[in-house]
Amino acid sequence: MNIILLGPPGAGKGTQARILVDERQMVQLSTGDMLREARTSGTDMGRKVAEVMDRGDLVTDEIVIGLIREKLEGDAAPGGFIFDGFPRTLAQADALGALLDEMGQSLDAVIEMRVDDEALVDRITARSTCANCGEVYNDHTKPPPADGVCTNCGQKTEFKRRADDNADSLKTRLMAYYKQTSPLIGYYYAKGDLTVIDGLGEIDEVSGEIKRILG
Ligand code: AMP
Repeated sequence: MNIILLGPPGAGKGTQARILVDERQMVQLSTGDMLREARTSGTDMGRKVAEVMDRGDLVTDEIVIGLIREKLEGDAAPGGFIFDGFPRTLAQADALGALLDEMGQSLDAVIEMRVDDEALVDRITARSTCANCGEVYNDHTKPPPADGVCTNCGQKTEFKRRADDNADSLKTRLMAYYKQTSPLIGYYYAKGDLTVIDGLGEIDEVSGEIKRILG
């Protein structure tokens, strides 16, 4: 089963993808995570990517489609792929369709996680992640443990804030979502692939909804 989690920054796509990975042996393909890895590579491309990401703009279609192609061709996913943060433009959506076709695979569901903008700003500015396993914490609803031990991986760790989780970059990221990514809602609706869920609920409620959709 191959699915897309679609939604603005802070909608909870990464959190829900991690639950699906644990429960269904699916493979999470997060272009954001791939690009964060690329930016530390010390190459010219890495430096350019870092600049674009810190501003909150989108990296070029060519780069992200290349990253996804590599993963799809290289990784085995018995439970299927979860596309998290990809596609973000219509060109990326067309490219994904073509790549899956080439592999004799299909897209089984596109789940749009809807969350209102104010809640997004609250979530993102309060967010931190375990430097070891990527578990997501929130200062208000799930604060990082005071003893520094991650509740997910059990390691003594650092809880890091993302460089682009600040008010300025967030404005640009939201604008990029509404201008470039939200047209995908209509695109997948027209294809008959779209299901909309309320992303505002508790993590368990949202994952229950997703389970219900995937069957
Ligand atoms: P994310 O972790 O999904 O919030 O992505 C963080 C940043 O990586 C975004 O603000 C973009 O700069 C870049 N990025 C991630 N995925 C994509 C994509 N599919 N297309 C273009 N840029 C992306």
